[in-house]
Amino acid sequence: MSEKQRIVLASGNAHKIKEIAQMLPEFEVVGYKELGFNEEIVEDGSTFYENALIKAKTVSLALNLPALADDSGICVDALDGQPGIFSARYAGDGVDAHNNALLLENMKGVKNRKAKFVCCMVFYKPDGTIITATGETHGEIMQSEQGENGFGYDPLFFSYDLKKCLGVATDKEKNTISHRFRAIDALKDKLK
Ligand code: IMP
Repeated sequence: MSEKQRIVLASGNAHKIKEIAQMLPEFEVVGYKELGFNEEIVEDGSTFYENALIKAKTVSLALNLPALADDSGICVDALDGQPGIFSARYAGDGVDAHNNALLLENMKGVKNRKAKFVCCMVFYKPDGTIITATGETHGEIMQSEQGENGFGYDPLFFSYDLKKCLGVATDKEKNTISHRFRAIDALKDKLK
C-alpha cells in the first residue's frame, strides 16, 4: 500500500502530469481524469494566477480533495508578452504544430527573440486555503524547430540555462530548469 499523500492535479495533459509527478516524488500525483472528473473548465481569467486558481478550485470543490493546478505559457518580448495566457490556443485550434508555425511567422525578421516560459501553481484546499508560487525560465525563440522532445513550444525554445533547445533536451535536463520545476520548488517551501 502506498504511504504517499495524494495530490490531485487539475490537468488532463499527460506530459504535464508526468513532469509534475517526477518533480514531486514524495507525493502520489494523480490527474483529475483518473478520479472521474470530466467537466470542462472555462479558463476565463486574465492572468496565469487567475486561470490556475479557477482550475484548482473547481477540481478541489468537485472532488472534495486538495488540488494542484498550473497555468503556464510562453511570453515573447517582441510580441508584448504574447501569446502568454493564450499559448495553448494561439493558432486557434490547440494544435502544437500550428501554434509553433504561427509563432515563427510572427517572429519573421524580428531581431529581439527573447522569451520566457512562465508557470503559476495554485494549491487549493476545500476549506478555501490557497498556496501559490510562480516560476520562470528564460531563453530565445529559434529560427526553426529543433528536436522532438518535450511538448508545445519546446522545439522552438533555446534555453539560456541549458544552452540548447528544449526540443533536444532530455526530460531530466528540462526538469532542472523549467518554469514548472521552479514554481513547484517555490511552492514546496510554502507547503512545508
Ligand atoms: P495550459 O495547459 O493552459 O497551462 O497551457 C499551457 C500552454 O503553454 C501549452 O499548451 C503549451 O502550448 C505552452 N507551454 C506551457 N509549458 C510548456 C513547456 O514546458 N514547453 C512547451 N510549451 C509549454
